[in-house]
Amino acid sequence: MNIVEIIEKKKNKQELTRNEIHFFVKGVTSGEIEDYQTSALLMAICINGMNEKETFDLTMAMRDSGEVLDLSSIGRTIVDKHSTGGVGDKTTLIVGPIMASLDIPVAKMSGRGLGITGGTIDKLESIPGFSSEVSDEQFIEQVHTVGMVDAAQNKNLAPADKKLYALRDVTGTVDSIPLIASSIMSKKLASGADSIVLDVKCGSGAFMRNTEDAEKLASAMIDIAKKANKKCEAVISDMDQPLGYAVGNQLEVEEAVRFLSGVFKEKRLESLVIGLCKTMYKLSDKYYGQKDEEIERFIRETLDSGNAFNKFKQFVAAQGGDVDFIDELYNAMGDNMGYKGKSYTITTEDVVKNPDDVYGPLRINRIDAGLIGKSSLALGAGRMRKEDAIDPGAGLVFNRFVGDELNPGDEIVTLYSLDDEKLKAGRELCIKAIELG
Ligand code: URA
Repeated sequence: MNIVEIIEKKKNKQELTRNEIHFFVKGVTSGEIEDYQTSALLMAICINGMNEKETFDLTMAMRDSGEVLDLSSIGRTIVDKHSTGGVGDKTTLIVGPIMASLDIPVAKMSGRGLGITGGTIDKLESIPGFSSEVSDEQFIEQVHTVGMVDAAQNKNLAPADKKLYALRDVTGTVDSIPLIASSIMSKKLASGADSIVLDVKCGSGAFMRNTEDAEKLASAMIDIAKKANKKCEAVISDMDQPLGYAVGNQLEVEEAVRFLSGVFKEKRLESLVIGLCKTMYKLSDKYYGQKDEEIERFIRETLDSGNAFNKFKQFVAAQGGDVDFIDELYNAMGDNMGYKGKSYTITTEDVVKNPDDVYGPLRINRIDAGLIGKSSLALGAGRMRKEDAIDPGAGLVFNRFVGDELNPGDEIVTLYSLDDEKLKAGRELCIKAIELG
């Protein structure tokens, strides 16, 4: 078998066999196939696609390129939740403790942020002391003692995907449904969960810009899960505007803390959290046909009683995080506690170019999630390359949301950054993202 023939085949829109796909993935993992050949095949797949069988074969080859975790010693159904990536998406920090406090074990591996999409591990590591490097033994032990663990993806988990993703990132081959579906699902299948809930993001701040593509991606991933004998459900959720009021690592932890402790729940975030929790509950071993309303009552009760918040603190402590810091965040009331950098608050005056054109009340028509993601990246909250450092306290806090009416001079959003130049770049992108009518 030879890689040039495989590239030619896909270039000519032919189906690749299971053996050809395994040969390719093995060569990528061992380094025998050159990056330029891998990139050529990735581009051919991007342009000519893959059918369901090829996508499944690619997923399994990537899953088997490294370690496949066995969580059967936990003795429970493990339900995983995965988001395809968005701006301000802190749902794992909220959904995880809710599930664990309802005695549904959460054994998760999460990623770091790249480009405009944030990553749960960066958010958690913005808590002083928190460690996402967890041994296999601690991983299992913590599920027994706390009911929740979230670790950075092990180096040996789907290593082929790591190499392919790094190349896709620099060759314009990220936005392909078979490549995204196989990349996500290979890691999900390698991390050992029995059931998977997928949160497929759709809109300007997501890989999938419209509902049709989001549905195609969701179907492709559900199809892979079915073929691999895993239960799987997908939720398609809006990423045309940022999720919740905060974007940025520590700021999002603060929002999660305020949500869990009952101080403030932004409406869209609340609706997604409840929807995801219900879907996860129905795939868990606690489910025996309870009605939707009953499940929602369990979820709201565990939040209102403080049990979910206590579970979050227990989880943070188990991974070395400073629980006093969490308590301080709880009292901080959204003011980016102790941040040593600079801030700027955007008001209607920054956005309205021509005040003479304004008749009657102003209204926020749009907050473009893609541009807000770029703004948060410019402020220092994200990274362009995997090795870049991030500023845990940088980001944005919205005071107002789409649909809100405003008076001249009203504050819309506050930006935080360590550096004046970054603050200026973030401010310009943020102003472009806001459309008033
Ligand atoms: N997340 C992944 O893990 N892989 C992709 O290809 C896209 C998003």
